[in-house]
Amino acid sequence: MASPSASTIVWLRDDLRLDDNPALLHAVDIGRPLTVVYILDEESPGVRPLGGAVRWWLHHSLVSLDAALAKAGSTLVLRRGPAGDVIRRLAKETGAQHLLWNRRYGGPERAVDAGIKAWAAENGIEAQSFQANLLHEPWTITTGSGGPYKVFTPFWRACTAAGEPRTPLDAPGRLPSPGSHAGTGPGQVDSDALADWALLPVSPDWSGGLARTWQPGEAGAHSRLDDFLAGPLEDYGTGRDVPGVEGTSRLSPHLRFGEISPFRVWHEIRLRYPREATPDVGIFRSELGWREFCWQLLYANPQLATRNYRPEFDRFDWQEPTAAELEAWQQGSTGYPLVDAGMRQLWQTGWMHNRVRMAAASFLVKNLLADWRLGEAWFWDTLVDADSASNPANWQWVAGSGADASPYFRIFNPVTQSKKFDAEGRYLREFVPELAGLDGKAIHEPWKDHDMKDYPAPMVGLPESRERALATYQKLKDQLDS
Ligand code: FAD
Repeated sequence: MASPSASTIVWLRDDLRLDDNPALLHAVDIGRPLTVVYILDEESPGVRPLGGAVRWWLHHSLVSLDAALAKAGSTLVLRRGPAGDVIRRLAKETGAQHLLWNRRYGGPERAVDAGIKAWAAENGIEAQSFQANLLHEPWTITTGSGGPYKVFTPFWRACTAAGEPRTPLDAPGRLPSPGSHAGTGPGQVDSDALADWALLPVSPDWSGGLARTWQPGEAGAHSRLDDFLAGPLEDYGTGRDVPGVEGTSRLSPHLRFGEISPFRVWHEIRLRYPREATPDVGIFRSELGWREFCWQLLYANPQLATRNYRPEFDRFDWQEPTAAELEAWQQGSTGYPLVDAGMRQLWQTGWMHNRVRMAAASFLVKNLLADWRLGEAWFWDTLVDADSASNPANWQWVAGSGADASPYFRIFNPVTQSKKFDAEGRYLREFVPELAGLDGKAIHEPWKDHDMKDYPAPMVGLPESRERALATYQKLKDQLDS
């Protein structure tokens, strides 16, 4: 039986929302004074410090969450430090009897949560966790022999066979008030000032393009979903491959921060297509499936960002790029318009179209033969949707070292790709304005027949670098066979 002064802590992490938030709703049911906390933890062992673009997003998302909580009669407490220590302290300050959170799946994060659960049990505090951020808990979707899936198609088939995802839960109208905590004045526990976390970039402030492109927070997430449902979803199967149009949902950073739940996305689609899903809807759902697949890969392989999923790639002969070569790729001056447009889109907006991500990544790991970890680290720092599952899983997919990976000999040709998916050069013109004057044909290969003054010549030849990549791969195969 809880004491009259017992209170509840809801610890929000990658679930910065009120809608479909089981931990928060459970706190309402308990009905005790409530403390909602977000902890900036970059100190617990193994936790990866956030990249720059994600820090920008987090700042704005917390501002938005704070406002939403205030509207519901609550408040957001910000704390910084190793989460285990912070929670222990906060529980003491508030006299917490209940500790609630929605689950996360990275190795170091799970270790932190398990430590807190054990401590709570020893101290008579009820710690409870909920499923909120994945449609299927990774440990529930297993192969016949009980292990994790290594191939996407049977994984997704098993997910589908597991039944329809649950109906999302509506946001609570009113949250229990914070109550009064001893020694800190009525209704208050100390909170850091968000500005002191210095999440926003200064000198230089490179965030202008991000601010023009995105609206971090729950309202922004729902408005993205509405826009997507009202248009692009209908033609998603084709539109998703065309970088020059808004053919995809652009929900990735909102899902990354849990500003919208995958259950909500799934449900809204079901409401729109109540009878039978169209092929386009099926393709979109399977993209959500790729997200689930990446997380179950990380769950089973916590070192996904640092170790080859396929250990034979430990012997692959990656070539260390020079600083100038790496910088040319990062800054979008490789001389290949599609790669450059993608890398500049990433720098300017914190996001890159999926097809271009594949082409830009393939260029780095195959044409330049650079270790995929170099690219993964750059994306980690610059993507607003960078997450510890999808980023390494996709890099390893492109490199051939990952699960269900693209075969190594599949080397994206950036010229063929832009001719096919950006035939008129709309995307190229937007992000590589030096090429804007070229016509639809010439823009894909500006070095041909044009004396380009302000655009670089290709940094490597495509046929030679392709041959070199294939020979390096063959060398690995020969080593393994001998
Ligand atoms: P949509 O096409 O609208 O898809 C809907 C949702 O499905 C996405 O928001 C995303 O959550 C999920 N999804 C789609 N494709 C994938 C995929 N291949 N893998 C996992 N989930 C997927 N996605 C991230 O969310 N974070 C990353 O850090 C990330 N890094 C990537 C790195 C590389 C090298 C590559 C090739 C892809 C990466 N992706 C990553 C996957 C994909 O490019 C993005 O999810 C997608 O471009 C996001 O745009 P969208 O929301 O409009 O996608």
